[in-house]
Amino acid sequence: MTQFWKPGSEKPRLVDDEEGGILFFSTPTSSSSSSRFGYSSIDKQRQGLPVYKYRNGILYLVENHATTIIVGETGSGKTTQIPQYLNEAGWAEGGRVIACTQPRRLAVQAVASRVAEEMGVKLGEEVGYIIRFEDLTKPGVTKIKFLTDGVLLREMMDDPLLTNYSVIMVDEAHERSLATDILLGLLKKIQRRRPDLRLIISSATIEARTMSSFFDTSGRMHKKAGDEIEPKKEPAILSVEGRGFNVQIHYLEEPASDYLQAAVSTVLLIHDQEPIGDILVFLTGQDDIDSAVQLLTEEAQNLKKNSSGLVVLPLYSGLSRGDQDLIFAPTPRGKRKVIVSTNIAETSLTLEGIVYVVDSGFSKQRFYNPISDIENLVVAPISKASARQRAGRAGRVRSGKCYRLYTEEYFVKEMPAEGIPEMQRSNLVSCVIQLKALGIDNILGFDWPASPPPEAMVRALEVLYSLGILDEDAKLTSPIGFQVAEIPLDPMISKMIMSGSLLGCSEEVITVAAILSVQSIWVAVRGVQKEMDEAKLRFAAAEGDHVTFLNVYKGFLQSGKSSQWCYKNFINYHAMKKVLEIREQLKRIAHRLGIALKSCEGDTQVLRKAVTAGFFANACRLEAFSQAGMYKTIRSSQEVYIHPSSVLFRVNPKWVIFHSIVSTDRQYMRNVIAIDPSWLTEAAPQFYQQQGLNKVAY
Ligand code: ADP
Ligand code: MG
Repeated sequence: MTQFWKPGSEKPRLVDDEEGGILFFSTPTSSSSSSRFGYSSIDKQRQGLPVYKYRNGILYLVENHATTIIVGETGSGKTTQIPQYLNEAGWAEGGRVIACTQPRRLAVQAVASRVAEEMGVKLGEEVGYIIRFEDLTKPGVTKIKFLTDGVLLREMMDDPLLTNYSVIMVDEAHERSLATDILLGLLKKIQRRRPDLRLIISSATIEARTMSSFFDTSGRMHKKAGDEIEPKKEPAILSVEGRGFNVQIHYLEEPASDYLQAAVSTVLLIHDQEPIGDILVFLTGQDDIDSAVQLLTEEAQNLKKNSSGLVVLPLYSGLSRGDQDLIFAPTPRGKRKVIVSTNIAETSLTLEGIVYVVDSGFSKQRFYNPISDIENLVVAPISKASARQRAGRAGRVRSGKCYRLYTEEYFVKEMPAEGIPEMQRSNLVSCVIQLKALGIDNILGFDWPASPPPEAMVRALEVLYSLGILDEDAKLTSPIGFQVAEIPLDPMISKMIMSGSLLGCSEEVITVAAILSVQSIWVAVRGVQKEMDEAKLRFAAAEGDHVTFLNVYKGFLQSGKSSQWCYKNFINYHAMKKVLEIREQLKRIAHRLGIALKSCEGDTQVLRKAVTAGFFANACRLEAFSQAGMYKTIRSSQEVYIHPSSVLFRVNPKWVIFHSIVSTDRQYMRNVIAIDPSWLTEAAPQFYQQQGLNKVAY
């Protein structure tokens, strides 16, 4: 069990990296005491946060500068406090709203409910939130609104200058998510037209000067009269002094061959040898997190001796509200909480009571290759900046320890210093269509915080043209282009819905779209693969996963939406409930777009044609003469395989279309459907004639 880790054999190190070791020096200010004295009132707690000392300073800067950049350690109170300060100072008077954006939905929900609690109001009234498919705000009542940056982008389609908002705080800017960067670019434009608008850009580690020069338009302004009522154009930068405690860093002596196993062993070791205190484990996604939770729970039971002391909880987006509450609930006396998380706990959420951090060194990241036109979700190494943030989570309440599941040499010599902005490693189809919908024609000349690769832009334009969403002048087509832009889904799914409505299977495509919008409807449990496969067979359709989804949906409805039924069939009940909700929303959108709901009554061919109309760019053909099960994408001859979770795994139809790709040892297609190749030329004649498909013998 301990093959990876020998804490006893090595002196605890204080030397971490180039910066000389201790990550954060403890600052013995009065602020660190609130939790130590137990039950202090919410006001006391709020006043104990580092950001409180800067309250007036922040308000002054926001008053006087168009843009204020605030950098502060995670947990210092940026997200929960600053919107409240703004509200107290009157920025939400006269029907105006204070917005605070987050890259992640779960963070939006968690932070909004925390702020509502602090203010003593019901969530959805003065404090509300919006994430895609869920609106918990009340127009005219809500003063502080938390929302994802993607949702704020969508709001621009109805209100391009975002006139409802007095202050927009773009939070977690250091993450440089795709939507954050698009938003920053657009907000810069809006500022020119709305001198009354204030921006706050806040983050844990941002390179403040880069952001500052991006937003600095002072050189370009030549306004004279009336200047005094306008805010200063140069952004202000404020750094909130943190209050972290020392964190000892431990490295592996030898690289771990299996980070999941190493993480589990390390947690058990900490539990065995270290004083009480909660553990936060950073893994990558739902799959490995669920596995680790299961392994830890089992191991703890086997160990007996301390088993009763461990409370193991997963943390990833898509958790139910009940599970979220458990994460934030105080650890029962004498117990040790182990939270196994994605990088959402890196900076987006503050968890109290963490003393030990186990860092796998990996996270799930998007990577897009414009040459192959494949966007992958890959488990990839994190950056040094991320590793430091992760370690910092151990020093919130007292000095802590961070166990890095990689060697020191790797950290120093190989780990990249910073991550790459998502803009530079994403498929840009959604980004382009959103900008087009906002009337921004010169996309290549758009002022981005980080320029996207031109090849990726060209690819996106090409696909959108083939989808019939853009015309030859790269303008949105009418009505398809405008309609697709209005549906808050990936344009390929939206196109599938539009085609489904023309082909007479709108009921079915909406169901499929809803299911593709949740992470997975299957439950993955280790050790019962056979039972799971058998359960899946009950729904499996020879045509592929999309048709299988329809069978599951039908079965779920017939069961009376029963959780028991889901349990029996290894189907995620929580995900199915979400599917119902999303489907309702999509029905409403369809209604607005004038799409009449119609069922194809089991004619799977029309459904598959509708999928093809949206996803033709993801077509692949089985390579007859090579390794079994190998496909090549038509577009760029990339080698891909059907994912074992697909019902078409080992079935290997000759022609398929996939929904997405995940990479592990190979590139795997997730959610696959069998098609007839003639549908491709039907769906996208230019696209496939250029590719020479019509010459391929099939
Ligand atoms: P930042 O945005 O600077 O990382 P936050 O505003 O999220 O900091 O958190 C400030 C403090 O508020 C945290 O240190 C923690 O004490 C408290 N807090 C935040 N969210 C919660 C929550 N959901 N439950 C309990 N306490 C919370
Ligand atoms: Mg925050």
